Amino acid sequence: MKIRVLGCNGGSLPGYFPVSFFMNDHLILDAGSITSYLSLKDQHKIREILITHGHLDHIKDLCFLADNLFLAGSYRTISIYSSEAILLDIKKNILNGIVWPDMTKSSFQQPPVYSLRSIKKTLSLDRLSVEAIPVTHSHAALGYILSDKKGAVVFSGDTGATDELWKKVNDTKNVKAIFLECSFPSSLSDIAWKTRHLSPSSVIRELQKIKNTKIPIYLYHLKPVYFGKIQSEIKKLGNSRLHILKSGSTLNF
Ligand SMILES: [Zn+2]
Ligand SMILES: [Zn+2]
Repeated sequence: MKIRVLGCNGGSLPGYFPVSFFMNDHLILDAGSITSYLSLKDQHKIREILITHGHLDHIKDLCFLADNLFLAGSYRTISIYSSEAILLDIKKNILNGIVWPDMTKSSFQQPPVYSLRSIKKTLSLDRLSVEAIPVTHSHAALGYILSDKKGAVVFSGDTGATDELWKKVNDTKNVKAIFLECSFPSSLSDIAWKTRHLSPSSVIRELQKIKNTKIPIYLYHLKPVYFGKIQSEIKKLGNSRLHILKSGSTLNF
């Protein structure tokens, strides 16, 4: 599985980009940084988009991607997958004809740019199998486990302390990597808890729920304003499993 990290922060500042991963050159996970990072040629390669939840740092580029493809003229309708509740959030609040045109409908004799498709639990996309698991955030949110012949990769999405995801991870063979959110420094663990996010100290508590203690952990969704502070707290932990993910990197599993 090839994963290009287009953006991996929980906010936006120069050098820090909201969350988007580009998998195997056809699948996007979260739409925070598609058009600000991918060339128009690569934007045309996108066939499917998985959305973890409806917060703006995970969906904003759905608007600009639709605009780019629509104006370029020739495109294939892209399937956006998430839970029914999350798709409704997007349709009602963003692609509603007010904040942005409703790109799920055909217009000017062109086909819809997007088709919204709810996932019940699992889904097959090309050579990938996708499992959606509810996580614990301030609003409806999902984590995903993506698997192929070589193994599985886990994305927590935005979450506070959670259980169901880790139960699934413990039941999944050959987990190659876990991408885990870590939004706030431990010194702000109160805000992290109230907004259903993690900090380095709660990351350590979450890791205790995972049986395999060798899986590498890629921390992401660090709030740009606290990036330096979170980074130094993670260094102090001295845990060799923990890596801080960087925008622009490509990982192969
Ligand atoms: Zn977020
Ligand atoms: Zn969120």
